[in-house]
Amino acid sequence: NTVRLQAIRDVEAYVPPAAVFIDTEAPGEVFGENVFNQVVMQKRLPKSVYKSVMSTIEHGATLDPLVADAVASAMKDWALEKGATHYAHVFYPLTGFTAEKHDSFFEPVGDGTALAEFAGKTLTQGEPDASSFPNGGLRNTFEARGYTGWDVTSPAYVLENPNGNTLCIPTVFVSMTGEALDHKTPLLRSQQAMGEHAERILRLFGHTDTKKVVSFCGPEQEYFLVDRHFFLARPDLVNSGRTLFGSKPPKGQEFDDHYFGAIPERVLGFMMDTERELFKLGIPAKTRHNEVAPGQFEIAPMFERGNIAADHQQLLMTTFKTIAKKHGMECLFHEKPFQGVNGSGKHVNFSLGNSELGSLLVPGDNPHDNAQFLVFCAAVIRAVHKYAGLLRASVASATNDHRLGANEAPPAIISIFLGDQLADIFEQIAKGPATSSKGKGSMTIGVDTLPVLPTDPGDRNRTSPFAFTGNRFEFRAPGSMQTVSGPMVTINTIMADSLDYIATKLEADVAAGTDFDEAVQTLLTEIITEHGAVVFNGDGYADAWPIEAEKRGLANLKTTLDALPELITPAALELFEKYKVFNHREMHSRYEIGLEQYTLTIAVEAKLTLEIGATVVLPAAVRHQTEVATNIAALKAAGVEVDLAPLEEVSTPIAALRSALAGLRTALAADVGHEALAEAEHARSALLPAMAEVRAAADALEEIVSDDLWPLPTYQEMLFVL
Ligand code: ADP
Ligand code: MG
Repeated sequence: NTVRLQAIRDVEAYVPPAAVFIDTEAPGEVFGENVFNQVVMQKRLPKSVYKSVMSTIEHGATLDPLVADAVASAMKDWALEKGATHYAHVFYPLTGFTAEKHDSFFEPVGDGTALAEFAGKTLTQGEPDASSFPNGGLRNTFEARGYTGWDVTSPAYVLENPNGNTLCIPTVFVSMTGEALDHKTPLLRSQQAMGEHAERILRLFGHTDTKKVVSFCGPEQEYFLVDRHFFLARPDLVNSGRTLFGSKPPKGQEFDDHYFGAIPERVLGFMMDTERELFKLGIPAKTRHNEVAPGQFEIAPMFERGNIAADHQQLLMTTFKTIAKKHGMECLFHEKPFQGVNGSGKHVNFSLGNSELGSLLVPGDNPHDNAQFLVFCAAVIRAVHKYAGLLRASVASATNDHRLGANEAPPAIISIFLGDQLADIFEQIAKGPATSSKGKGSMTIGVDTLPVLPTDPGDRNRTSPFAFTGNRFEFRAPGSMQTVSGPMVTINTIMADSLDYIATKLEADVAAGTDFDEAVQTLLTEIITEHGAVVFNGDGYADAWPIEAEKRGLANLKTTLDALPELITPAALELFEKYKVFNHREMHSRYEIGLEQYTLTIAVEAKLTLEIGATVVLPAAVRHQTEVATNIAALKAAGVEVDLAPLEEVSTPIAALRSALAGLRTALAADVGHEALAEAEHARSALLPAMAEVRAAADALEEIVSDDLWPLPTYQEMLFVL
């Protein structure tokens, strides 16, 4: 009676919870209900305080400390009315997860009672002990101090819990010396740098007094759902987020029947429930659909300012995990929970602009004539070409290595897809001024009742890591588990560099008396000539592409260990220092943490593989072997002529499993010293292959051992039963 068979019975008996949408509630009614947003602030803050806060949010003015007290007091009253008993500074340490330290509002007042207190200084600054977060050498362990600081630009919110609510305040997290220990600090710094240089260009185009330019991010999140009974019966899923064992099911995704298919009722119930929670938190959930693999789905909220999108994205992942449990399921954000079917990514849709001018990457009807758009577009081309290695490094992790370049996600080679129309325009620009734009087409369907449908001037491309999609670029390489901050920091910073370069050039030309249009034309031609090699509109999965890419001088950094050194090249160190995003120490710390996380991830998986292989798979296989042997002995005793082949069939993979387990044990015990790079190298070259051997033997056994003895829920069960 295996754990697996019990899980199957439990799944059968499970009854999902009833619908959560209340009959009388209009959709959207709850939107922002738990957010201390502009409307709430306008209602509750004195006018001058409100204006001061808004000028920080909209124009990047430094926050006036005097207003903090007034905001804190209003925020506290609002939160108490919402049932909050505690407040928490929420921050984003380099673990990639969200961290929070809760404090009660209530303080004793001496007469035996307590009063709710929340001062401005408590709102603006906190001091969590930081010694247990990764810091890559930025702090000595005896200097444990870390500080959190209120990010005024990201709204505070109340998080509900049946036993009491908490006021959450998004914050940065820095060391005593002001060095970044988190993902938010560099995101804010990089956004500032990018905005400053974008505004210089806008001034040249006559927008002399426009609002602050910020980056926008629309993250698409892919994930898997698995029934929780199965999940709990898989120690590998519980502890590493992916299955370290499991033979490919007879039916996978070959039928292409899951993508955009009808959403199973239970899953739809979960989606409605999560969306309602997201709405309350002001997270604009928009699109939902089935993804390519069985059991795989996607959610895409509407794009928002980069740092808010990043905070919301983190909150979305926590919400999904919590609500999935409520529906008897586990939500998996791992990039490759199941071998042999598609993994999950998180596409980062990027644009820049402000509320006045919208996205600066909108081509308009005649892009060839839209110099401002072409300049911003050229900035992207230059940035991606010049700093492709940094983009690659920004998505590097042990978990994403299973997915990148595996014909389901973009290849590890960073290139840009422009689409027909733009590619054509830049080809014209390479030779001189562009004179025409390929227009929108139309398509006749051949059914009288259907209208003639317009077609876009450019097709979509599913294989490109960095694709222009009409009004934005979509960076498709980020992993499903990672925060969007890393990629956004990189995009903002390399854009700051390109925009600075362009602004400096154009300003100098104009000062020297060159005609502005002519200066722009010369610049565009120069950029596309020098950086056009990064533009690739073909099939990124084709075998010919890596060869062609090499000819073009584009790097193919296949694994995390190939990509991470990009963070500490002299050019990278100089770039991040110049735009005040990271100093050299901070860059080195990120590199060290990248290596550390890589090693830790693989080491945990290796130990799990050993444990499960030795204590779960091997005993089941031996039981089966014993049954076969007993059967043969019985037949022999009965005088039947016996065939030993069935015994060999199971004994051979058992021997292979034993020897693979011994190999893995040896690899795990090897002394490789304590140098981060050496440890990571060992993980890649010794642990990963040793794990693969154990898995191969175990997966072979899965296909032989009798079904009632097999202990681990199978792929078939986990992927298809929801
Ligand atoms: P697709 O499947 O075509 O990639 P989705 O609808 O799944 O598109 O997701 C597109 C994402 O891009 C959404 O999050 C959307 O809000 C975002 N997006 C749209 N316009 C912009 C823009 N100008 N800047 C940033 N993100 C954008
Ligand atoms: Mg999508």
